[in-house]
Amino acid sequence: MMSCASTTAPFACALDAWLAKECAARSPEELLSRLTTAQWRALARTLRHAAKHSTFYAHALCGHDLAPHRSEDLAQLPFTLPQDLSAWETLLCTSLGDVQRLVTMPTSGTTGMPKRLAFTQRDLERIGLFFAAGMSYLVKPGSSVAVLLPGAQRPNGVADLLRQALVSLDIPVACPPPDLLHKEQTSALAAWLRKTAPSTVVAMPTQLQRLFSAIPQGLPCLSGVLSSAEPLDVSLGTALRSQWNCELLDHYGLTEAGYGCALECPSHDGYHLRAMDIFVEIVSPDDGHLLPVNAVGEIVITTLDREAMPLIRYRTGDMSSLLSEPCTCGSPLPRLGPILGRIVRDASGQTRILRLPKREAAPC
Ligand SMILES: [Zn+2]
Repeated sequence: MMSCASTTAPFACALDAWLAKECAARSPEELLSRLTTAQWRALARTLRHAAKHSTFYAHALCGHDLAPHRSEDLAQLPFTLPQDLSAWETLLCTSLGDVQRLVTMPTSGTTGMPKRLAFTQRDLERIGLFFAAGMSYLVKPGSSVAVLLPGAQRPNGVADLLRQALVSLDIPVACPPPDLLHKEQTSALAAWLRKTAPSTVVAMPTQLQRLFSAIPQGLPCLSGVLSSAEPLDVSLGTALRSQWNCELLDHYGLTEAGYGCALECPSHDGYHLRAMDIFVEIVSPDDGHLLPVNAVGEIVITTLDREAMPLIRYRTGDMSSLLSEPCTCGSPLPRLGPILGRIVRDASGQTRILRLPKREAAPC
């Protein structure tokens, strides 16, 4: 049984304490260097694993340096594109028998083959460890959590993995009956929340928007909200924090990253990265060249030590930056800046940015 991270000292925040344990850093002063060293080692392991076991990467990585030590070296490797996931079996590094969960992703267009992602039991356990560490910002002994994300009944789906992580922290978890998640049932969902009286809610922004309309004054029991699975409108986040008088943290994740990728801390100064599982680069959306820290561009991820289907330099299509300054919470680690929009590419390869709402002053 894990315990809630009520003590993160001497580290700045719960995720830093978790990462320190992962990379054997004993103090905040050595966290960045230890983590960086561990990341490059994990990158080399991942590249060798992918090149050895996946026919896609055996071809794509042929002739490349599989032990890069600098960002400029890594940038020599080819990208993996979303459409490459259609030939998912060529990316598979394990036998199908070792795949514990196979996720089929929505495909645009009518002729496309389904894109799939595979995870082993260990891959799923790594996701759970990140969820447990991240939820430690919002829960403590005695807390209870309501998970409103859809699909809670699906074994090893994102809601179920979150539930498992919370149970590992000895935190009681409740999920509403699936029919209460329909938008027409918002009043019934609000009544269920009143009756269940959780201290923390995990929900998608569209769900939070509807609940905000149904219960604008919030719930007396509620002290924390985790927003996940969709971009959070900044004005909604600000209104909820103020009107519901609770902490609200935003999570940036995508299925390709293994659901979890980066999470705000209570300082709201960028998104702390799941740095021992995901390596992030920022590149130009137009020509793919590597951009320096603090520059805005496309988020590119490399999954670290993922067994079933590692992704090397996967272009997410999301726009952000890597923040190099320490977080206001004191963490010295690089973080993701605000998620600014989605990159849309037309048939000719031209790009345009579908921007998310800008940050606004508190509307209430
Ligand atoms: Zn922070």
